[in-house]
Amino acid sequence: MTEQSPVIRVEGLKRHYQLGDTEVRALDGVDLVISRGEFVAIMGSSGSGKSTLMNLIGCLDRPTAGRYLLEGVDVAGLAEPELAAIRSHRIGFVFQSFNLLARTSALENVSLPLFYSEGGRDATPRARAALALMGLAERERNQPSQLSGGQQQRVAIARALINDPAILLADEPTGNLDSQTSTEIMETFRRLNREHGLTIILVTHEPDMAAWASRVITMRDGRVLTDEAQPDNATTDQPARMPTQVPITRLGRMEPGSFVRMALLASLRAIVRNKMRSALTMLGIFIGVAALITMVAVGQGANASVTAQIASLGTNLAIVMPGATTSGGARGGYGSASTLTVADARAIAAEAPSVADIAYMNRASAQVQFAGQNWTTVIQGISPNFVTVRNWTIVAGRALTLEDDASGARVALLGETLRKNLFLEGQDPIGATILIKNVPMQVVGLLGSKGQSSFGSDQDDVILIPFNTAERKVLGAAAPSSTKTNTNPIFNGPPSPFGIQPRLTGLANSLYMQATSAEAVGRAIEEATAVLHQRHRPAPGQPDDFNIRNMGDLAQAAESTGQIFTLLLSAVASISLLVGGIGIMNILLVSVTERTREIGIRMAIGARRSHVLFQFLTEAVLMSIAGGVAGIAFGLLLAAIIAQLVGWPLVISPLAVVGGFVFSAAVGVFFGFYPARRAASLNPIEALRYE
Ligand code: ADP
Ligand code: MG
Repeated sequence: MTEQSPVIRVEGLKRHYQLGDTEVRALDGVDLVISRGEFVAIMGSSGSGKSTLMNLIGCLDRPTAGRYLLEGVDVAGLAEPELAAIRSHRIGFVFQSFNLLARTSALENVSLPLFYSEGGRDATPRARAALALMGLAERERNQPSQLSGGQQQRVAIARALINDPAILLADEPTGNLDSQTSTEIMETFRRLNREHGLTIILVTHEPDMAAWASRVITMRDGRVLTDEAQPDNATTDQPARMPTQVPITRLGRMEPGSFVRMALLASLRAIVRNKMRSALTMLGIFIGVAALITMVAVGQGANASVTAQIASLGTNLAIVMPGATTSGGARGGYGSASTLTVADARAIAAEAPSVADIAYMNRASAQVQFAGQNWTTVIQGISPNFVTVRNWTIVAGRALTLEDDASGARVALLGETLRKNLFLEGQDPIGATILIKNVPMQVVGLLGSKGQSSFGSDQDDVILIPFNTAERKVLGAAAPSSTKTNTNPIFNGPPSPFGIQPRLTGLANSLYMQATSAEAVGRAIEEATAVLHQRHRPAPGQPDDFNIRNMGDLAQAAESTGQIFTLLLSAVASISLLVGGIGIMNILLVSVTERTREIGIRMAIGARRSHVLFQFLTEAVLMSIAGGVAGIAFGLLLAAIIAQLVGWPLVISPLAVVGGFVFSAAVGVFFGFYPARRAASLNPIEALRYE
């Protein structure tokens, strides 16, 4: 036998367990030197400390006392990640119960250690080669339950060899196998030892199996009893397996890329293996995020629709209305509830510098007829600038002009609802003559649709005619039949060519003031109030007989209501997200318990605690993100359907989408961390024994 360097040197090794008051001395001072290329069998009765010794040699456990030098390095000085690296690169484990991952193909089982050593690079071809070496090329797709015990053990051996270790530790590998299969496994070991130079340490209590080894050690009560060479089986003068290039103290740490790849692949496999459970786990997050997205979109859609309606009333707008609050609002001489006049409008235009434009309107309900159709609608007599001040659009024909108003022309602008009710589809209303209160009027233009107002009325159910025309011919108490006179008291109308003041009241239902800017609305209201107060002079102790409303305030009030609405709904959605997160934590905790043995296996084949931690964390985050993304998609779909049904604009807030995503990921991290910590802190030996 050639001089061989010791690969394992054990001196005075002790491992004591405290069981209540009694101290169990599983190992009680073992001295042992094992050289490269040896094939050692350890024998002894049950409880003699064989497995304890194997776990210490395999760096799964730490001794209570004594020294263990592996390749000359004192293992006691190494930290957990370094021990994991040794298990990953230097040592292959084979167990009595095979310890393969269930519902996982032979190929995946064999490639598993590669994920913890190199992030799974070239995993498939290497695993295939290892399986072929074990004579299992045909069975790579089979799961453990589809393989015989001998085949399963050979898959386990292939897994132990995948990282090209220097030492193979086999703890009663044939304990569960019949004698013929056991012989096959032993032949495999001898071949690996002789042809590949692998150092093998085999635990067995069967002398038949020990007979295959080149050296037999027997143990009793935690000590070595005998240690004998079996010259017949002496390792041939094959060169012993050379130490792998990298010394154990410098075994590479996994690069970040490989690390991420490992975590992703391992967690993806775990998720796919439990499809139904994973789907149910995601459901909580899915519902939470979908509710969040839908509710925010619905809230914002409602908001946008209210805001749009208010904007459609006109921008920078304030409305002067007759004081409805006063009981005796009617003032002497006017004979009407309204006290606002065209002259008031003119005075405001002249004296209030913050008012850019002012329109006025008089309204009444009346029947409109055309070709046998009739429809009761709102007739609005308007100043020509009313259309622009109120943000109406003219979609066909022309607007009303100063000339129309001055001459009291019988012309009208039709609202969309009225057009639909009086005219057939495709019929051109422009130029048609309709009857308003039996007065013939020519349609000269069509108004663009404003839609339903949030106050419940159809804004398009309207017909606009010149103010003077309305007063004289349609709405006025005593409309003269003659149309030749012409005046109007409005400020921006042309001067009457005849200079005759008519006997008209000039009463308006409301005045629409457009301020010079949005900021100037408040000032415009103050100025107009002063002007009107001066003109109307309420009796002492009486309030003003008019009332000015800022449309911007209305818009703001509506908006803040909408915001409260959105906030409330989001709170409800957050609660369902929280519930979803707890669901993830619950499932993961169950899964950690259920997969305790799997975690032990992963650690035995080289997974570090940080690997296990990140693997479980990734699993949680992947599930919650998948649930979140599906929830975002479904929530958007639902929001679109609701918007379509209700007729709101579809408002998709990027903030809600990004927020839903980030929140679901955060839920995964938050609720996944505790189970992941628990998995990572498991003791590998106890985890391996877990039933
Ligand atoms: P073997 O593999 O030779 O059958 P082990 O090494 O498994 O024996 O166990 C040696 C002794 O240590 C036994 O008496 C066993 O009960 C005890 N032992 C092993 N592990 C533990 C533990 N975690 N806690 C307490 N006692 C233990
Ligand atoms: Mg044992």
